[in-house]
Amino acid sequence: MDRQPYIPGLSPADPGPLSRFIPPLEEGVVSHWLPLHASTGSWLLDPFGFAPRLTLEAARAGYRVLVTVNNPVTRFLLEMSANPPSESDFKAALSELEIAKKGEERLGAHLQALYRTACEKCGREIQAQSFLWRKGEDAPYARIYTCPHCEDSGERVVTEQDMERAKKIAATDGLHRSRSFERVAALKDEDRVYAEEAIEHYLPRPLYFLTTVINKLDGLNLTPERKRALSALILVACDAGNTLWGYPSERLRPKQLTIPNQFREHNLWLQLERGLSLWTETGSSVVVEAWPKKIPEGGGICVYEGRLKDLAHEVKKEIPIAAALGSLPRPNQAFWTLSALWAGWLWGREAVEPYKIALRRRRYDWAWNATALHAAFAHLFELLPLGTPFLGLLPEPEPSFLTSALTAANAAGFDLKSLAMRTQEDPVQIVWARGEHLKRETNEPNVEAAREAIHSHLMERGEPASYLHAHAAGLIALAESHALKQKDQEFDEALRATQSAIQNALAEDERFIHYSTGENVDTGLWGSAELIRRYESLADRVEVAIVTFLQKNPDSIYLEIEDDLYPRFPGLLTPSKAMIYSILNSYAEKDGAAWKLRAEDVASARRNELNTITAMIEVVGKRLNYSTRKDEKNLLWEADGQIHYVFYTLASALIGRAMSETPYPPEQTIMVIPGGRAALIAYKAQRDPALSARMKQYRLMKYRLLRALVEVPVLTRETFEEQIVSDPLEKSKAQMMMF
Ligand SMILES: [Zn+2]
Repeated sequence: MDRQPYIPGLSPADPGPLSRFIPPLEEGVVSHWLPLHASTGSWLLDPFGFAPRLTLEAARAGYRVLVTVNNPVTRFLLEMSANPPSESDFKAALSELEIAKKGEERLGAHLQALYRTACEKCGREIQAQSFLWRKGEDAPYARIYTCPHCEDSGERVVTEQDMERAKKIAATDGLHRSRSFERVAALKDEDRVYAEEAIEHYLPRPLYFLTTVINKLDGLNLTPERKRALSALILVACDAGNTLWGYPSERLRPKQLTIPNQFREHNLWLQLERGLSLWTETGSSVVVEAWPKKIPEGGGICVYEGRLKDLAHEVKKEIPIAAALGSLPRPNQAFWTLSALWAGWLWGREAVEPYKIALRRRRYDWAWNATALHAAFAHLFELLPLGTPFLGLLPEPEPSFLTSALTAANAAGFDLKSLAMRTQEDPVQIVWARGEHLKRETNEPNVEAAREAIHSHLMERGEPASYLHAHAAGLIALAESHALKQKDQEFDEALRATQSAIQNALAEDERFIHYSTGENVDTGLWGSAELIRRYESLADRVEVAIVTFLQKNPDSIYLEIEDDLYPRFPGLLTPSKAMIYSILNSYAEKDGAAWKLRAEDVASARRNELNTITAMIEVVGKRLNYSTRKDEKNLLWEADGQIHYVFYTLASALIGRAMSETPYPPEQTIMVIPGGRAALIAYKAQRDPALSARMKQYRLMKYRLLRALVEVPVLTRETFEEQIVSDPLEKSKAQMMMF
């Protein structure tokens, strides 16, 4: 396997509609990878259709992307972002809804009145932004508002009237609820019970709001563009209207339909208005056609609404696919069930029909995931020529997801070409190539091979790794020896065998050290006893690489730094953004978007300063009646033929190397560091428990303390000892960014 570097991208400035259910991917990754593997204008295939922006980015880069999408909501998101209605259509559609009649009233006024509440301070009637509920209760316990009259703002206890209003709407709930089932499934439909269960995740007020608006959508005489625009706004309200909004914000990306103990009921009128800004696309629009209509050579998206297996034969005959790409799907019962519901509400029962299975299925486990992925890869194998590359992005990685994806692809005849991983928060970038044989020889999972792969990853890393990294190293070894799944083995059995092979590899070897507060193998960090005496940790090497780069390339922007760095640390070694920023903040300053070394951190300035520090140590030593002797990089304070203190002066934060280079006992040794490195050293200690334990044996002293000691008029050996004890390492500024 080649180890390709991680491709850096940018987090989207605006996460877009339904972002809590859409894979969190960076922009710029696909458009970087594609030109290296397929010429522009050629055909690509996204077999999963899971990430609308990924497809869009490939099309904008000048490719023709055939995408299979069977979720009607995802398809709508894709078409909307490729070709959004104009802002004026959005505004006009919303205002038509607002002025439509509801009895004698305007609909807008009627719907806003649902969220009326009295300001606690000035008593005037205003709009609540949201109500807060406890699970199972029949009225909210609090409301959140900002009063436009007196500016009172925040969370306030509900009033009697607030509770009455909620109960009054609940009294008529039955009617709206049954209407909303009917849009999804017919009365006699056996799936109706599932639709009912899904709708349980809507309180009476949002359900009343949504059914009222959706009924009106059919009655308004809107142009097709405006109808599309209004549907898009309603879709945002459909998501804002369910109970999956834990309060205070927890479970930001729900996977299961479970009601949090406390949750937020949004004001859906405000959510419709918020939708206006969510849907505005800044990029150029892209041609979208439905299969089998073709798209121009300049790029575009061809949507196949259905499953890959129905398409495989036709594609093979008609269009040559140069590369495949996609965000690997992970089970999301919440999104899939809600998608079926929303499709019924917005587009009627026929739209739900092909997707109705999503309503029925309750449990998705990793074996299910592997089976589904395997089916997709197997169809893909049929329609791709030998050697066709496939870029798979695996968002929100966890060990089981990674095992599932690698097992499925391998069993379907795809060879793993590279796997680059940054942190547990970033998508893993995997490249496969369509192999020679769909069925090939398989081997038993070899615990020894997994163990050696994990150990060599740790040695290369030079510091402990997360379980996910260790797992990935083991998994790659098993994938390369085709040992992830035996012939005729079921996926659940195969996944279990792989997991226990990797976990046994770690648990049954005394070289491995587990840094964890939990018992489970998959928590905390894993290190090796053989690492303790080594000093080339990943963090240290990244520090050296960044400083060297900035010496040669002052005024570089962050992406240029990543571009230089990632190829030096490919595959599983990819440094985290937190690490890069900790190093940059320690050494460099930002001028606009450009980073350059601080004046005091330019190499020549640091060399001069080191000389000054050496001189100061001598001066202070002399005042305390010690003679100073130099031994390689150490300065020794001696008196009466004995060594009393050893000083090791650093300009960098390479503290691991410093501890390895000084042969003197730790309790005698003082590490002298620039104050600007303290936060970086603290960051390193915080992410590396082995380093932290070693550092506890040593004392650190900042340059500025030494400068102060030179100035102190009276200095004794006792006060010197007190001073160095009271100079603790600052708390790292990057404390929130653990890895
Ligand atoms: Zn007020």
